[in-house]
Amino acid sequence: MSQQNPIFIPGPTNLPDRLRLAMHVQSQDHRSKNFIDTFAPALEEAKKVFGTIDGKVLLFASSGTGGWEAAISNTLCARDRVLICRNGAFSHRWINLCQRHDLDVEIVEAPWGAAAPANAYEIALKADLSYKAVLVTHNETATGVRSNVAAVRQAMDNADSNALLMVDGVSSIASMEFRMDDWGVDIAVCGSQKGFMLATGMAILAISPKAIETMEHATLPRTFFDFNDMLKNNASGGFPYTPPLQLIYGLRESLKMLLEEGLENVYARHFRLAEGVRRAVTAWELRTVAHSSNIASDTVTAIYVPEGRDANELTDHANNAYGVSFGIGLGKLNGKAFRIGHLGSLTDVMVLSGLATIEMSMADLNYPITLGSGVATAQEYYRQTK
Ligand code: PLP
Repeated sequence: MSQQNPIFIPGPTNLPDRLRLAMHVQSQDHRSKNFIDTFAPALEEAKKVFGTIDGKVLLFASSGTGGWEAAISNTLCARDRVLICRNGAFSHRWINLCQRHDLDVEIVEAPWGAAAPANAYEIALKADLSYKAVLVTHNETATGVRSNVAAVRQAMDNADSNALLMVDGVSSIASMEFRMDDWGVDIAVCGSQKGFMLATGMAILAISPKAIETMEHATLPRTFFDFNDMLKNNASGGFPYTPPLQLIYGLRESLKMLLEEGLENVYARHFRLAEGVRRAVTAWELRTVAHSSNIASDTVTAIYVPEGRDANELTDHANNAYGVSFGIGLGKLNGKAFRIGHLGSLTDVMVLSGLATIEMSMADLNYPITLGSGVATAQEYYRQTK
């Protein structure tokens, strides 16, 4: 039964039938014209989603984590200084990955629930011009917080920093506005299972001409993730090894879906769905982990349960009693917060079903909420904005 309900985790997302069917293809020779004619245009079209004209899009059979690793291993050397903000479990994991690659990592600590503070980046960059890379998580999926990438770029420019700007856009790209060229991003990382609405298994990156130049001097070891091998092969429509062919067919269709809807409309839809969820949270008299609505993510909302409650009990109950998955709290938010993922192929009606389910679950567990309160608030908002 549970497969019939939408899932409300912040990726992997619900697979639209159109994409399931697009991925349902027989194996093919990846050196055939058929494949080349699918792959090369998909790489070109994907650039629109990243907001780049000058950059290149690269695909690896991996998940977002592989994209992080590809970004740093292709452009940096051991002991290079990198600057990164930690404001949630995903930025924490990227830091860990950098440390395990023997980078010299300077951490801007920010509260979980706050955005990456551009002014703190600026102070650190002005104090030390040796940084080779500045890293920021555009959308902290653990806290439901969006950071201002353009402001981090401005901080770099104010400090005359020549570092590369690397952005984790795993849970924002293809759902929330992303403007790689305008924001001066050198490497943007995403994964197939979030805004692209595909199965997990492909890291999708965009890299700037400056990132490509930097590669020449970067000595961190890489083989599978080597951008050079990938770029050389991609130039003639090929792949340096066996590609995830079905995912690439899916990507071609996903790009058609996104561009048919129009990226601006995709972003507006995500904002509207998210806003309904945020209003429901207010109606429940609960608190979002995001400190304020102007930094709230449009793809995921993390919500504190009342003091003394166990958020995992709530998500387990929703799963067991109603067959609906919500995201658990990650890292230090585990047990304290749960997350409603609202990205990808979703309508207001689907989101309302998620809100209704979590309300029923809270009522079952004797939370002090009135059934229908959050749903009605979201319904009203969706009615007024349709
Ligand atoms: N970065 C962010 C912001 C994420 O949300 C995730 C996964 O949810 C990752 C990185 C890691 O991606 P993956 O799980 O695809 O390896």
